[in-house]
Amino acid sequence: MDELLGISVPSPRESFSIRETTVRQALRPDPLPGIDYSFNPYVGCYHGCAFCYVPRLLQIDRAEWGTSVVVKRNAASVLAKETKRLPRGLVAISTATDPYQFVEGKYRITRHALEVLLRADWPVSVLSRSPLMLRDVDLFTRFRSIEVGMSVPTLDDQARALLEPWAPPIEGRLRCLRALADAGLPTFVGFAPAYPPTAGWTPERIADVFASAGVKKMFSRVLDPRWGARDAMLARLAGSPLEGELRRISDIAYMDRFLDALADACDASGVDFRRWRDDSARNEFTARHARASTVLPAE
Ligand code: SF4
Repeated sequence: MDELLGISVPSPRESFSIRETTVRQALRPDPLPGIDYSFNPYVGCYHGCAFCYVPRLLQIDRAEWGTSVVVKRNAASVLAKETKRLPRGLVAISTATDPYQFVEGKYRITRHALEVLLRADWPVSVLSRSPLMLRDVDLFTRFRSIEVGMSVPTLDDQARALLEPWAPPIEGRLRCLRALADAGLPTFVGFAPAYPPTAGWTPERIADVFASAGVKKMFSRVLDPRWGARDAMLARLAGSPLEGELRRISDIAYMDRFLDALADACDASGVDFRRWRDDSARNEFTARHARASTVLPAE
């Protein structure tokens, strides 16, 4: 473990490969309501979460996901040109990678992009699993329109360690949320894909923890088990004492009841809970993380 802003993070794996590239386009139009563009500073993600939907979107073998990252070296300078010719709109950072995975500590592509967007006075929505996000508080607080969020789909760090073993621990994410809120920023939690409650975490306790961390808004959705996500997840759970409980992550009826109870608990704690449902396809994913600002109508 290394220390990063006072938080323990796993050391980079030796087998993880990093490559650099240049791009011609930085912003992608985003089809979901509330978001105009997505900006992804990297291709690939160190965190390699078992349930990640990006391998399907990028047509990457799921077994390869989490083993490499490609750094878009010139993404911020391309972005600067695009902000001069494209209509101003909300930029989601990021939708298909984690913008604060450890390579950001060296390359600073996300930070440079934020500097560009700040100068252009464009609104942003930033979502990560990594407390490295705190490095950029000085920029966040200067935006006229911004929301900053952490993905925290469980409060049980043992469950987290099974399904997202290379992502930062839950405690660090909560401390990050608290620090962001203390800086006066509007914060949200991505409780997605929702883990079933383990280790005695009740909906009421979960809502209380987020409320205490200063979280104003929370969005959730259930796991999309398709395209190999469920099988990859079950493989990571095999043999774990938590296997029985965590397998319920794909039990839709069970998770519906849990999220209904969590919604009530959030209401009682003053956290605006929103849920993304797509009953026609049971979580038919589009090319992005669902975000608080994009799920208003459905959740
Ligand atoms: S942090 Fe997000 S993009 Fe990265 S592996 Fe996990 S779910 Fe996928």
